[in-house]
Amino acid sequence: MENEAKIDIKSLSLDELQKKLREFGQPAYRARQIIDWLNTKRVTSFEEMTNLPRDLRAELGKQFAFGKIDIVRVLGSQDTTRKFLFRLNDENLIETVLIPASPALYGAKSDRRTICISTQVGCAYGCKFCASGLEGFSRNLRPNEIVDQIVAVERETEEKIDNIVFMGMGEPLANLDNLMRAIRIINAPWGLGIGARRITVSTSGLAPQIRKLADEPLQIRVAISLHGATDEVRDQIMPINRKYNIDTLLSACDYYVSRKKQRLTFEYILIAGVNDAEEQAHLLARHARRLSAKVNLIPYNTVEGLLWSRPSRNRQEKFLSILRAEGIPATLRREKGHDIDAACGQLRLQTKRELQVL
Ligand code: SAH
Ligand code: SF4
Repeated sequence: MENEAKIDIKSLSLDELQKKLREFGQPAYRARQIIDWLNTKRVTSFEEMTNLPRDLRAELGKQFAFGKIDIVRVLGSQDTTRKFLFRLNDENLIETVLIPASPALYGAKSDRRTICISTQVGCAYGCKFCASGLEGFSRNLRPNEIVDQIVAVERETEEKIDNIVFMGMGEPLANLDNLMRAIRIINAPWGLGIGARRITVSTSGLAPQIRKLADEPLQIRVAISLHGATDEVRDQIMPINRKYNIDTLLSACDYYVSRKKQRLTFEYILIAGVNDAEEQAHLLARHARRLSAKVNLIPYNTVEGLLWSRPSRNRQEKFLSILRAEGIPATLRREKGHDIDAACGQLRLQTKRELQVL
């Protein structure tokens, strides 16, 4: 594909763009003008950058790609979780979920709009319960494809997004360079201007990359997908645990905590008969205490073709009460979007299956 070799203009930082323009013999203010077209006016072609000389627009077109992502499907309604399926320039599909934090029960607007974005097409980590891992890994998303999910959803909904979670498809820390580039653009005042504390990266436990993240200056938040408090349980459902077991993972978390002010969050999906025993809750509490971490319990979302299911409501509450009795700040997500297959990777899988049937 012609564009493949070129860097996308939207993947560059302001500094990098300034440097490139100097190389073209252009004054420095041109970089600001371009960034303004991209991030404030949000045009979709170089031709629309009407305050740039025509030659420069042509030169930019030769030097850089200007990718776009197209919405293929939207599920859900204005007041609930909405799910977007996007087609990338190379026809790959990815998905993004928009979650109103407090459902607009009385028609009022919710106070926070959280977007859950993807970082890869598919996922190589193959967690046994997850739809994203089911069809393996295709490729990393580029920085512009990560940021464009936010821009496209804001354009479609005409609402500003103020909270970002990297919990869509893929393992963000397996695409660390592009992830960090995207986060710098999302955070920068010349970019999307979203505060670092409103950006959360979720990982299945890539211990060396957690250490790298700890050395980054940005105060973003990190969530660890633990889903099991012992190697025995984790080995069953998360192949990554054979590479970085709980000890290795928790020492990387120790390092993170020693370097950062932000608390870590443990995500823990409750899966019936797999990780919901009381003993797991006690051990999870011990890990959380060691790191002063919070725990976010998530009842498992069924995935078509997989046999796992969520525990009964009673059992979920019991697990929560053990953590609380141990003094751990814990929440049980009464999660939204169960009805529209909101867990990561599910809409894409469903659409691909439908397309295969057609
Ligand atoms: N790869 C990263 C981020 C994407 S997954 C990670 O694993 O953390 C984001 C979260 O969704 C993870 O905690 C993951 O375990 C969870 N998840 C995956 N499938 C799910 C399902 N069917 N129901 C509920 N949560 C699920
Ligand atoms: Fe990949 Fe995360 Fe799904 Fe595991 S849970 S397969 S790491 S996306």
